[in-house]
Amino acid sequence: MSNCIFCQIIEGTIPSQKVYETDTVLAFRDIQPAAPVHILIIPKKHIPTMNDVGPEDDQTMADLFAAARQIAKEEGVAESGYRLINNVNKDSGQVVFHLHFHLLGGKPLGPLLA
Ligand code: C5P
Repeated sequence: MSNCIFCQIIEGTIPSQKVYETDTVLAFRDIQPAAPVHILIIPKKHIPTMNDVGPEDDQTMADLFAAARQIAKEEGVAESGYRLINNVNKDSGQVVFHLHFHLLGGKPLGPLLA
């Protein structure tokens, strides 16, 4: 989708600090990190929100979680701990409508809703 900022990051027309890439998944550092490790993991397919994921996306979803596991190891947070967050629509505060998981770690993150 040409007006989607994450699709433009996938295409390379908007720069990003990539940390992981396969045929189906891209991961890059968040430009406004909320923790020492803050990486966004996205499917290359444009899917607006979790509500739009269908059975045809099962492999892509598995690929996203495989990416999260590998990135957590590479970033050195697999054992200390990390959080995966997916915001969906208005009440969550979702601002980019291309499915993404925030991988946050590198410090004690505190209670989820603090
Ligand atoms: O889950 P939500 O939609 O609120 O998060 C979008 C995230 O995308 C924000 O954390 C924002 O900093 C990040 N972002 C980015 N690079 C951009 C645009 C947004 O890392 N070019």
